[in-house]
Amino acid sequence: MLGDTIVAVSTPRGKGGVALLRVSGAEALEIASRVFRPRNGKSLRDATPRTAIYGEILAPEEDGEWLSVDDGIATYFAAPASFTGEDTVEICCHGGVLLTETVLTALLAAGARAAEAGEFTRRAFLNGKLGLSAAEALGSILEAGTREQLTLAHSGLCGRVEARCAEIYDVLCNVLASVYVKIDYPDEELADMSREEIVEALASCEDALMRLAKTYRTGHAIAEGIPTVICGRPNVGKSSLYNRIVGRDAAIVTEIEGTTRDVLSESAALGRVTLRLFDTAGLHETADPVERIGIDRARRALADAELILAVFDASRTPEAEDLELIETLSSEKSAVVAVLNKRDQGDGAVAFYRARFANVVTVSAASGEGMEMLTDVVERLFTDGALDSRRDAVLTNARQQAAVLSAREAVLRAQKVLLEGYPIDLCCTDAEDAMRALGEVDGRTVSEDIVGEIFSHFCVGK
Ligand code: GDP
Repeated sequence: MLGDTIVAVSTPRGKGGVALLRVSGAEALEIASRVFRPRNGKSLRDATPRTAIYGEILAPEEDGEWLSVDDGIATYFAAPASFTGEDTVEICCHGGVLLTETVLTALLAAGARAAEAGEFTRRAFLNGKLGLSAAEALGSILEAGTREQLTLAHSGLCGRVEARCAEIYDVLCNVLASVYVKIDYPDEELADMSREEIVEALASCEDALMRLAKTYRTGHAIAEGIPTVICGRPNVGKSSLYNRIVGRDAAIVTEIEGTTRDVLSESAALGRVTLRLFDTAGLHETADPVERIGIDRARRALADAELILAVFDASRTPEAEDLELIETLSSEKSAVVAVLNKRDQGDGAVAFYRARFANVVTVSAASGEGMEMLTDVVERLFTDGALDSRRDAVLTNARQQAAVLSAREAVLRAQKVLLEGYPIDLCCTDAEDAMRALGEVDGRTVSEDIVGEIFSHFCVGK
């Protein structure tokens, strides 16, 4: 419920130099002032906003008496100039587990309610401090595991996607306001767009939406990651390749066949792309029941994969199992890269594989030679090299992509209505649908905006 005052520990649980507790809501200053007593003798209620104040932190004893438990720093952010848009007090205490819990309990006793997961960000969204996509980006910043993911998440937090959508939204808003004003105030001398100008505006929206939708290919590859399976017959070097990509010895590498019995899974960066890697037990037939479970899981992982790294031995004539794998992969819809490993031992089989796969790289997983070729091929398959994740608006999740695609479809319908010669006002429903879909990207409401646009630009309310 918006309106009450919430509190949470914002730093991770555990021992640390400092811990930070955040109190947000109309009563934040009042509640915090019961727990925090500035050393300068004044009350926290008189705090100057955005100023760090040193003081002591009080907590209730069992007998109800409030005693000092720590020294710390409090900072008051007056609404609306805070992360949530509400009055907020941040209290830093020393980072002991029991101490932090004691300060939290004190703030609860002083009248705050324990915040639910994500509640600070939800309030920030509801108070118009950040759009939905920016809120999602904030979540991605916390989850980022690769540098490229971090860059993209930060760009999202800066609101690049929302700004791009807002530009398109504004054009549609102008179109609608222009049509509506003509219908509602036919006698007024109001500036409006001609039919040709509306057709042109819709075409520019369609083009912008298409370009934005295309960025999801890259955003997906970086932010969500490409489900990737490494397969190949035993001993070709699957685990070595897995370890080479994740950059450490995650999978067991041995000379005994069938060592990898389960499916290991991990995210790792390969150039710009994030691979959600599954190192599998291989797909061969086996009598070993434990190994068979691993192989069944491998088949399921293969069915979900968007990228298959099929590992073969570059130096040896293909064996029956290699041929079987080639056969299995021939009907595969996902991207397949043939990784010819152990090139340090020879390249006798390279021509054979080149004749059978569109994407072939030769590597030595043991030494790392040739890995840059694999990176290039994967980047080419899954990203748009011209897109700069630091500067361009890039869609990063399926929700945004669906909203943008549905906006584009609505714009196409609106265009069709006009191109087929129907009256202009018949395109309004479709244009509104497009705005509604775009509004989903940052969570704004459409009808209020159109009304606002009409009255601000056209000065009708005279
Ligand atoms: P898996 O069974 O396919 O997972 O294969 P492993 O990664 O366990 O490797 C099998 C054997 O091949 C191990 O002895 C590795 O050291 C060796 N091996 C892996 N990659 C290379 C390589 O690039 N060159 C050479 N010479 N040996 C390799």
